[in-house]
Amino acid sequence: MDTKFIFVTGGVVSSLGKGISASSLGMLLKRRGLKVFMQKFDPYLNVDPGTMSPYQHGEVYVTEDGAETDLDIGHYERWLDVNLTKESSVTSGKVYSSVIARERHGDYLGATVQVIPHVTNEIKQRLVDAASASGADIVITEIGGTVGDIESLPFLEAIRQARLQWGYGSTMFVHNTLVPYLRTSEESKTKPTQHSVKELTGLGIQPDAIILRSEVPLDAHTRDKVSLFCNVPLSGVFEADDCQCLYELPIKLHEQGIDDYVLEHFGIAAPEPDMSKLQGFIDRITNLKKTVRIALVGKYVELKDAYISVSQALKAAGYALDADVKIEYIKSMNVTRANAAEMLSGYDGLIVPGGFGTRGSEGKKESIRFARESGMPFLGICFGMQLAVIEYCEDVLGMKGANSTEFDPECDYPVIDYLRGQHDGIDMGGTLRLGGYECHLREGSLARKLYGKDDIVERHRHRYEVNPSYVERINEGGLAVSGTNPGSGLVEIVELPGHPFFIACQFHPEFTSRPMKPNPLFKGLIEAALAHQEAVSYTHLRAHETGRNL
Ligand code: GLN
Repeated sequence: MDTKFIFVTGGVVSSLGKGISASSLGMLLKRRGLKVFMQKFDPYLNVDPGTMSPYQHGEVYVTEDGAETDLDIGHYERWLDVNLTKESSVTSGKVYSSVIARERHGDYLGATVQVIPHVTNEIKQRLVDAASASGADIVITEIGGTVGDIESLPFLEAIRQARLQWGYGSTMFVHNTLVPYLRTSEESKTKPTQHSVKELTGLGIQPDAIILRSEVPLDAHTRDKVSLFCNVPLSGVFEADDCQCLYELPIKLHEQGIDDYVLEHFGIAAPEPDMSKLQGFIDRITNLKKTVRIALVGKYVELKDAYISVSQALKAAGYALDADVKIEYIKSMNVTRANAAEMLSGYDGLIVPGGFGTRGSEGKKESIRFARESGMPFLGICFGMQLAVIEYCEDVLGMKGANSTEFDPECDYPVIDYLRGQHDGIDMGGTLRLGGYECHLREGSLARKLYGKDDIVERHRHRYEVNPSYVERINEGGLAVSGTNPGSGLVEIVELPGHPFFIACQFHPEFTSRPMKPNPLFKGLIEAALAHQEAVSYTHLRAHETGRNL
């Protein structure tokens, strides 16, 4: 096997940003011409996060091939600008369920099935699978959790064995820690890092490199101390102090020589990376000229991570249009027909993202109604699209009692329905339609104009669909169906001709948006929001000049 493996662990505290340092390293190696695949090991026992509440876990990310994954996979895809696969996401639940399935099948030939070697072998197999499925030169595997957690022990044991079996030249351990700064004594303290490395070496893993997260720049003395006490060469001690802009981290790590250090470890010769494009991007996005305010009406707004890809896609769209997108997270339960105008009129655009269940759905519908009636730019995603259809059927087409069978199976007009038979053959997540599906865009539509092509592939994660029995009525009633799946004819996009910008899609466009390549629907929303802002301020200016009270 020619693939080299980098294992990224974390110590001292959780939420250290080891995903960002792993992605930065991946980005650097990719820019040096290597094929990089990123993988995450998650210690929880759920087979995938698809069944977890967003409050527990944040967003469930979906890959092109239909895996429901940890949101870190989204960071990897965005940072490296690659499409990852189901091999990227490995949980204890996945590992144990295949070991147990094999045991039931009798594959262990009477052996006592144990964590070592059966579970650890299964984990190592996931590393090999990632390498062979991707054909990557380098697989970077981030081990979730913090060193010292009981849950992550089998993963750490497996990577220890990987070093023993595949050798020093094929494996590398990169450990991330926090160096706290004590303001009163003005000192950076290395003791937690020393303890964390001691814990790791107790498990048989001697880090080859250490990345020190710190809120202040570290001095040479601190780095020397870490090198000496943690038994890592000074050239392998890197610092990641807090950056104004996250994308500065790859540049800072490159300046400290991290990519050279890694390549030298593996004995790989590769050309220098060109960092000028990234630097230009940073210069641009740290000096954005305009500001645009978007209301995101959702159910899980207390936890911003629940909408991380949506917020990243909004930001990316802003970057392309020289605008800083300020997102206001509004709890859908708080929006009513009476207060929708008051709550939303200060914003330049509205986004209603995906969601499940009836709670808060009225508030989302009222927000959509306000956008439809007031001309505020609106993008609806998945559940947001289904509610836009329901709202239109109820209010404009007079179909009182229109609803989704997700929360009212007996409703008069099941305009959103679960279509049995559509999902046969999709095993992951049971009945959800997951992953990339084709969508044909109607000529002359806004969707067609935004994407600039006839056919697209976007990722899905939903159970319900626009009911085909009502499509004609909806389309002829004025909510135009502008995107459909070529095979099944299922509705993928609806839009409202005559409205400045009112478009909603059944898929999740946020999953294909990249920092330097925003998804066209998001770009369209921000463009329309900027135009809306200008129109509103012009109206106010005119009103002020003419003394009219608006
Ligand atoms: N709850 C809806 C469905 O299952 C929408 C899902 C979503 O927004 N991701 O179809």
